[in-house]
Amino acid sequence: MNKAETRNSNMPIVYLSLGSNEGDRNKNIGQAVELLNQHPEIQVKRKSSLHETLPVGYLDQPCFLNSAVEIETGLPPLELLDILKLIEKQVGRKEEGIRWGPRVIDLDIILYNSLVMETPRLTIPHPRALERAFVLLPLAELVPKMLYPGLGKTIEELALSS
Ligand code: ADP
Ligand code: MG
Repeated sequence: MNKAETRNSNMPIVYLSLGSNEGDRNKNIGQAVELLNQHPEIQVKRKSSLHETLPVGYLDQPCFLNSAVEIETGLPPLELLDILKLIEKQVGRKEEGIRWGPRVIDLDIILYNSLVMETPRLTIPHPRALERAFVLLPLAELVPKMLYPGLGKTIEELALSS
């Protein structure tokens, strides 16, 4: 079956955050989106605009470009994480240097339907999403009125107060 045939409206909707602050940031994000969409079990539905943001955490590094995408996927969360790690490598991300330091590409799962899960490898919603304007502002372009799982607040409200 090809991708069109395997698609249906019951597929999980997932929001990913993309960030880059090394090399050609625009190209890195574009390539990551392309590779996501090329995967047989992932369809990229919508993209936010690109946001230029100051580094957070480790401050002595170049500015980031950040974006969010909405995907539809049949992949369960941990399999999706594996694919994201693979795509990060394909785009050129090297093994870890400084935590939250410069990176060619960072792909994070922010929301997976309304799933809440916590395992050593994967926490959804992303554990640091709420404190990161660079995650919430692009996400608010896509789903401003969506309620954040477990909170009585919309993404838009959270983005405005981040
Ligand atoms: P960060 O994204 O926080 O800047 P990394 O990209 O280096 O840092 O991710 C470190 C680890 O965080 C990943 O290897 C992954 O196992 C884990 N992780 C936990 N929850 C998530 C999530 N929701 N999305 C992506 N990675 C996650
Ligand atoms: Mg990451």
